[in-house]
Amino acid sequence: MELLKTEGVVLKRTKVGDNDVILTIFSREKGLIQASVRGARSLKSRMSAGSALFTYAEFVLKPGRTMYSVSSAEPKESFYQLATNIERLAFATYIADLTAFCVREEGGDERLFSILLNTLYLFANSARDLRLVKCVYELKLLDCIGLAPELSGCVRCGDVSEIDYLSPAEGGLLCRSCKRAEDMVRPLDEQSLIAMRYILYSDDKRAFAFSAGEQVTKMLEDHIEAFVRTHIDRDFYSLTYLNTILGKDEKLR
Ligand SMILES: [Zn+2]
Repeated sequence: MELLKTEGVVLKRTKVGDNDVILTIFSREKGLIQASVRGARSLKSRMSAGSALFTYAEFVLKPGRTMYSVSSAEPKESFYQLATNIERLAFATYIADLTAFCVREEGGDERLFSILLNTLYLFANSARDLRLVKCVYELKLLDCIGLAPELSGCVRCGDVSEIDYLSPAEGGLLCRSCKRAEDMVRPLDEQSLIAMRYILYSDDKRAFAFSAGEQVTKMLEDHIEAFVRTHIDRDFYSLTYLNTILGKDEKLR
């Protein structure tokens, strides 16, 4: 069988038996891939560096009956700093879970792959507010999978004035005249709208240069999280854990 050579990021590592692991890899060319690594947990394994969590590596994979097995893994970037800080690690774990849930098998996504690498780099190294890096990643991911919020005007009438609400269920903005009593909406302030538009409409690198004050950051986080919750429809334990570390009380949200 033909070997598959691909660049990928390890999103998840599942231990199997005493010595083996199964990796969930986001492959640049092939989307989500499961691949087993024999003896990965042995200290002598030449595969241990390339199979560590969040590692960006060049993989050579051998197709098997149920999944690939890793023939070799040459690390390009380990993001090892993530393992040295509990908060950085929690941010990275959540976006790895989110990505693994959203990326399809056999569906490579060059753009999302680059954004993910950029995000992991910032989570590992940046002195910036990581909550904003997370917001940018979440919005860009939604955009990559075709679920970005409609932020140009009201989703019902297209109007661009009196935009007072964000409706995750309706997929974007609602103006004052179109909002009905039964709509589940979030009141939207102008600063948050400007910030979300900047992130969504800027090119993928520039979007990360974005900064905001504490109040806008908090509102952005909540708006985008609400959007992700509604459209991804999955509770991530890693997000609950991250929010606990950040001192947010889930019950108050
Ligand atoms: Zn309207």
